[in-house]
Amino acid sequence: MNYRHAFHAGNHADVIKHVVLLAVCDALCAKPTPVFAVDTHAGRGLYRLDAEAARRTAEADGGIGRLLASARQVAPVERYLQAVQACRMAHGADAYPGSPWLLAHALREQDRIAACELQAEEAQALKTVFADDRRVAVHARDGYGALKALLPPRIGETRFARGLVLIDPPYEAQLEEFDHALAALRQSLERWPQGVYMLWYPIKRRRALQPFFRRASTLPAKASLVAELMVHPDDSPLRMNGSGLLVLNPPWHLDDTLRAALKPLAGTLGEAGASWRVDWLKAAG
Ligand code: SAM
Repeated sequence: MNYRHAFHAGNHADVIKHVVLLAVCDALCAKPTPVFAVDTHAGRGLYRLDAEAARRTAEADGGIGRLLASARQVAPVERYLQAVQACRMAHGADAYPGSPWLLAHALREQDRIAACELQAEEAQALKTVFADDRRVAVHARDGYGALKALLPPRIGETRFARGLVLIDPPYEAQLEEFDHALAALRQSLERWPQGVYMLWYPIKRRRALQPFFRRASTLPAKASLVAELMVHPDDSPLRMNGSGLLVLNPPWHLDDTLRAALKPLAGTLGEAGASWRVDWLKAAG
């Protein structure tokens, strides 16, 4: 495995993923009952945008960099920017939070987080970030395999009725990754039907994703939503033109929150021909 998220941290794909993640966390935290979160592909938890890896690609300049330099944003985007600022207050001006850091930031004392990371070095860094946070368990293992062990979530006497699973794989082998992710979603829905599931996916040409959407629409979720941000037109198969999230069992009104967020994000982060969409793949029956 060659993928290292340090080269991509804070890019446009992280922005949409992390905006959606925080919106889901906030919706779940509207009720006091405990929340369980699984991050199957967690990364190292904390990134340095001044580090050599991030500077080499400069991807963050077109993501969080552009957003921070822009005028005031709508509420769901402001919420994300405040989380990034909180990370910087704690870890320095060039810090960027990974998904497990954002989960730990957004969730509460009564909530629990399982963060899985297969790469030994990344997993070790993740353990260091959360050494003093007893809510977070770091699993240095395959995230798909961990789902079988972790769902339905139960710790001691506590059974978690509510929570979320984020699946954010590197897509090094594109077609296989979609197969693994869809199989994991199907199995996990059987074990924990009420969970909110989020799968991030890259977009080169949208047309090529039709088989994925067809298969995703047959998953046994109550409802499924797709939210996509294209920063380029999807006319080149050679680069990532945008990305999206499939959200199964989305919280109430997540679609409205994401519509409010994605329109200005496309304006700020997009080049000519940028676009966005929030559509139901399967509406609640
Ligand atoms: N979710 C992170 C975030 O938003 O900050 C970024 C994760 S990055 C896109 C994908 C991560 O998955 C990499 O750190 C990679 O080492 C790890 N990885 C790859 N295959 C994995 C697997 N089967 N199980 C767990 N982690 C895996």
